[in-house]
Amino acid sequence: MSTDRADPIRVLFAAPAGAWETYREALPRAFDAAGLDVELSRDIPPEAADYLVVTPKGPIRDFSPFTRARAVLNLWAGVEALVDNPTLTQPLVRMIDPGLTQGMVEWVTGHALRHHLNTDLHVTGQDGIWRSHVPPLAQDRPVTVLGLGELGAACAQALAALGFPVTGWSRGAKAIDGIRCLHGSAGLETALRGAQIVILLLPLTRLTHNLLNATRLAWLPKGAVVINPGRGPLIDDDALLAALDAGLGHATLDVFRTEPLPPDHPFWAHPKVTVTPHIASETRALSAARAVAANIARAEAGDRMDGLVDRDRGY
Ligand code: NDP
Repeated sequence: MSTDRADPIRVLFAAPAGAWETYREALPRAFDAAGLDVELSRDIPPEAADYLVVTPKGPIRDFSPFTRARAVLNLWAGVEALVDNPTLTQPLVRMIDPGLTQGMVEWVTGHALRHHLNTDLHVTGQDGIWRSHVPPLAQDRPVTVLGLGELGAACAQALAALGFPVTGWSRGAKAIDGIRCLHGSAGLETALRGAQIVILLLPLTRLTHNLLNATRLAWLPKGAVVINPGRGPLIDDDALLAALDAGLGHATLDVFRTEPLPPDHPFWAHPKVTVTPHIASETRALSAARAVAANIARAEAGDRMDGLVDRDRGY
C-alpha cells in the first residue's frame, strides 16, 4: 500500500521489555509486507508518535501527551485495564489475532473433552482396577458458551463440529450456523439451565462482573462443569466454592482476581478445581504483527480498524 506521507509513520512500542524482544523483528516484517513505511521504536517523543502499540502492563499510564496518535493498539484481547483510563482518548483497538483464536479453540476443546470423556478416571487411576466407564457421545452433552465474540464463536463452532449441542449467549442477538444463539437475561437462564459444560469467554465489564453469582450457579444442573478462560471476576469465587460443595461437578479456571493465584487460595486445594496459570491462549507474534500492520494500513487509508473498542460497552 502506498501513502501520500513524506515522513515515515512513527509507531511507538510501549510494552514491557520481554514483548519488545518478541515483536522487534515481527512488526517491521509485517509493516514491510503491508507496504507501510514505518519507524518503529521504543523511544519516540509523545508528540511525534502516530500510533502506540501497548499492553495493559506497559509503561504508559498517562496517554494525554500523545496528541498526534491516531490509535492505541493493544496486543491483548482484553482491554479492561485500559478502557477506563480517562487520559486514553485516542481510538483504542483490541487484538484480534488468528493465532490467539486458534490457541483458545485448542485449550477450550481440550478441557471440554477432558470432562466429557472423564479422562482423569483413567489417567490418574493406573492402579490395577478395571473401570469400564464408557462416556456418552458428544451429542448427549449440551455445552453453553457465554460470549460469542472472536474467541467464543470460534470455540462454539469447534465444539459443534465435534458433535456437541452448543448454545451461545451474547449481549446482542446473533445468528451463527450450527449454534443455538440466545441473548439477554432470559436467554442466560435458559443457556445455563440446559448446560452440562459452561465456557466463559466474556470480556470483564461493569455488566459481566460477578455474572456467575450464587443465583446463576444454582441454575446449572447437578454435576455441570464450569470452564473459565475469560476473566477471574466473571465468577463470584465464594459462590463457586459453595456451589462445588453443593453438587457442581468441577471448575477449570485459567484466570483469577489476583494473578498469580496466591498459594493459599482455596482453589489450589479444592478437589473439584483445576487451576491453570492464565495460559489458555496468548497473542502470537507473527499473526499479531500482521494484525497490527493491517489495522494501521486501514487507519492510514481512512478505513475503520478491526477490533475498535466501544468505550460505553467497555469492550
Ligand atoms: P469479543 O469482544 O470479540 O467478544 C465478547 C463477547 O462477549 C461478545 O459476543 C459480546 O456480545 C459478549 N458480551 C459482552 N458483554 C456482554 C454482556 N453484558 N452480556 C452478554 N454478552 C456480553 O472478545 P473476545 O472473544 O476476543 O475475547 C473475550 C475475552 O477472552 C477477552 O475479553 C479476555 O478477557 C479473554 N481472553 C482470555 C485469554 C486467556 O488466555 N485466558 C486470552 C485472550 C482473551 P456481542 O457479540 O453482542 O457484542
